[in-house]
Amino acid sequence: MNRPLTNPRSTLHALIPFGVGTADVESLLSYFCRLAVSHSVSTLILSRTIAQHFGHSVAANFDWHERQIAGIRESALTWSAALSALTSVQNLDNLTFLPWREVISQNGLSIFKRGQFCSDCFTEDVACGRQPYFRLAWESTEVTCCPIHRKPLSCDCPSCGKNNVRHAAAVVVPGWCTHCGGFLGETTKSEKSQEVEPASLWKARQIGELLASQDNLAITSNRSQFIGAITQIVSTAHGGKAAPFSRRIGIAKSTVHHWLKEGGTPSLEISLKIAAHYGVSLKNLLSGELSQWQPPALDEQLAFELSSSQTLRNAPRTIDWTSIEENLVAFLSLPTPISVLEAARRLDMEARQLYLRANKTTRQLGERWKDHLKRKQEAKVVAAWPYLEYACLEIWGEGKTVTRREILKRVPEEVLSSVPNLLNVLKEVQEHLQQSESLSKSELVA
Ligand SMILES: [Zn+2]
Ligand SMILES: [Zn+2]
Repeated sequence: MNRPLTNPRSTLHALIPFGVGTADVESLLSYFCRLAVSHSVSTLILSRTIAQHFGHSVAANFDWHERQIAGIRESALTWSAALSALTSVQNLDNLTFLPWREVISQNGLSIFKRGQFCSDCFTEDVACGRQPYFRLAWESTEVTCCPIHRKPLSCDCPSCGKNNVRHAAAVVVPGWCTHCGGFLGETTKSEKSQEVEPASLWKARQIGELLASQDNLAITSNRSQFIGAITQIVSTAHGGKAAPFSRRIGIAKSTVHHWLKEGGTPSLEISLKIAAHYGVSLKNLLSGELSQWQPPALDEQLAFELSSSQTLRNAPRTIDWTSIEENLVAFLSLPTPISVLEAARRLDMEARQLYLRANKTTRQLGERWKDHLKRKQEAKVVAAWPYLEYACLEIWGEGKTVTRREILKRVPEEVLSSVPNLLNVLKEVQEHLQQSESLSKSELVA
């Protein structure tokens, strides 16, 4: 037999995945569903074929959609490898979060199980003459809106109103309701009126940028580089002290220690927080690329509240300190922290007396309140960030310099007024943009 070697025919159709190398890359789950449509078989039959390929038997009620095949766990690896083997289409792991497996902890990627989608993306797919498909970004619970159409993702059918109708069924045609068959590209009235939070938009864009880089072999995720990046942030921004870093991110100091010394890895949610607080893109953070990074100017000063406005009570009274102490301990576990002043008010006491007689618990209350205030301020910066980014780009686009006055013309007052140290934040935003711009000019201009 001297026949020349040819490409062996693939068992399954060699469908070309959509959007590889872009923020709109298709998810493996979508690819799998389209493959079932292409072969005119149910998803159950196709999942059996795939399971047979890797030598598993499949129960009659096998829930393929419970496998998180587009995630970062073993199932994603098994399914993408099997589908690559059966379709002859290489690199199907690019349709999952697997490329970031080393830098997102195993339980650190939470998958949105009920199947969310952007109806305008489906409408656009049809208008462009392509089959509607599910974006990989939609699989992450961190993504709650579509950054292109600036609307919240939905999991309800606009025709029948049912929930979870995107893909959890035996017969799935991506873009059409698995319950009533209606097109999911129709926008419901309630959806139209919903506003998108700037922070959600920022997160969706960060994850989009991350996914767009998956096809680029120059960008690899490597745990030691990623941990190196975190170490660099901690040492540059906080002189190597883990405590202020962990406070800023809102996690325990021991968690940071665990990442740095014991081989732990942050979740995607925490990495997004780090990216937001330290002015680095999620992609650069996870790929450990901080060569262009400049630490943002951090404001560590906190309002300490020991008010002297109240005068000491004149009438002496007998105080039951055991009961006061019990009350203070109970305040410590309130879901929303309260200030020492508020605790004093509730106990009809003076803050100073509390500090004097119930010192430890009162200080604990004070610390808890300070942390709470700090986190609230940080949340405001995260919320304002996308507004400031757009405003800076607009101002630059007009060839002007970013000043407080120019910003005031473009960003709603209520957004600005909540930002502590606006000028410092603006500096961070501009530095961040300058870095991202050199990486992806076209995306930002668009
Ligand atoms: Zn969309
Ligand atoms: Zn429906």
